[in-house]
Amino acid sequence: MPKIKKKNISKKYKKIKVAIKKIKIEPAAKVFKVSKTTPQVLRGFKDILPGEQKYWDLLRTKAEQIVQDFGYERIDFPLLEETSLFIRAVGKETDIIEKEMFSFEDRSGDQVSLRPEGTAQVARAYINHGMLNLPQPVKLYYLGPMFRYDRPQSGRYRQFNQFGFEALGEMHPVLDAQIIIMTYNFFKELGLKISLQINSIGCLNCRKEYKVQLLNYYKTQKADLCEDCKIRLGKNPLRLLDCKEEKCQAVSEDAPQIVDWLCEDCKNHFVRVLEFLDDLEIPYNLNSRLVRGLDYYTKTVFEVWPGPGTPREAGQGETEGEEKKAQIALGGGGRYDNLIELLGGRPTPAVGASLGLERIILKIKEANLEMPLIQKADIFVAQLGETPKRKAMALYETLRQEGFKIAEAFSKDGLKNQLEIANKLDVKYTLILGQKELSEGTILLRDMEGGVQETINYNKIIKELKKRLEK
Ligand code: AMP
Repeated sequence: MPKIKKKNISKKYKKIKVAIKKIKIEPAAKVFKVSKTTPQVLRGFKDILPGEQKYWDLLRTKAEQIVQDFGYERIDFPLLEETSLFIRAVGKETDIIEKEMFSFEDRSGDQVSLRPEGTAQVARAYINHGMLNLPQPVKLYYLGPMFRYDRPQSGRYRQFNQFGFEALGEMHPVLDAQIIIMTYNFFKELGLKISLQINSIGCLNCRKEYKVQLLNYYKTQKADLCEDCKIRLGKNPLRLLDCKEEKCQAVSEDAPQIVDWLCEDCKNHFVRVLEFLDDLEIPYNLNSRLVRGLDYYTKTVFEVWPGPGTPREAGQGETEGEEKKAQIALGGGGRYDNLIELLGGRPTPAVGASLGLERIILKIKEANLEMPLIQKADIFVAQLGETPKRKAMALYETLRQEGFKIAEAFSKDGLKNQLEIANKLDVKYTLILGQKELSEGTILLRDMEGGVQETINYNKIIKELKKRLEK
């Protein structure tokens, strides 16, 4: 092997430094190769076309209904944050931090990341805006895109949307129950069958002892674990429980269960959460292997799987089913009593959930759920000639202000063309304004069902339409 001189290394290092500096200060077009082919949407990203919007409207409406019913207020966050926020909140040894963040250095050399999830931001905002001085609990919700550099496939994207709701500042188990009830109602009212998986992973104290037991057990089974789990043994033993590999699943069957190691306080808390759910007859499955993939959780954790049924029915214990389930978990959440303190705030308990909207839409489509009708126009405004077009535009504005549901094709000139569009839109009436009507002070009112056309005094058209549409 050739000897590398120290001088050469420092030369190379200098070159790299200059190149990085160049990227920061040069305009992008000078630094990056500009492709000449038609730009395509990036892998794992997608456009949401007009035809898809009805699903998004439905989810936004349902989300807003639920949060209003329970007194949660909207908060919006930037898409970009300091990278260290997520590393500290989500945890170094998690998939999100190890493999999935869109992180880069910005032009001033700051390490930033596209947000992979919302809870870390909720906690940051709570601290930054002194929300501990507000009446507690502070109840917040958000809805927007998250970014994870995951392997794209059906139900797994690199940009996806989450609806999240969080109650901060109080420890009471009724809040865990409320978050779970809101989650359950969201799906129930959409008409989707789900199964709620619930577990408690205790507090840091009871988990300390449990981790020792878990490690003792897994060390005896090391030979049967996948390579990732062998690494997890030394880093994040709780994650051993939710490994998707068949052989690791088999090993986890006999692993000690966290519920047997909960301290009195955690046990009581969990029992009370379950009692609240029982009172409201919310069905759930106790799932001792549910740990969730993020470090900040304490006590209650839960996930929503497409239902119906028990974990086994949902695929637990079968590699393919388990893999499927992992891909299609529709949402999840839990308590995170240490997160705000971990980020530099005062000790503040909190609990929340986040639901994956793309996956929910896939389920709505699969279940062929009936969608509410998109608001349809009643009246089409047609025009013939330049001056009538101007008058028709003014009439359109008046109709809009009067609250009529209206449609137009002002860029078209021929009447035939416009009537075809009106037909397609399935409007009840078309108003036709031509040169003749303009000079006579009238307008034609065409009943689209029978094709009958009447001449109406222009000044009486609003009254006439109100009468006919019973407004
Ligand atoms: P998590 O907190 O990671 O469990 O994410 C909450 C929910 O967001 C999941 O249950 C999914 O519904 C959704 N989700 C997470 N990652 C993705 C992804 N890469 N693509 C689509 N949805 C996702």
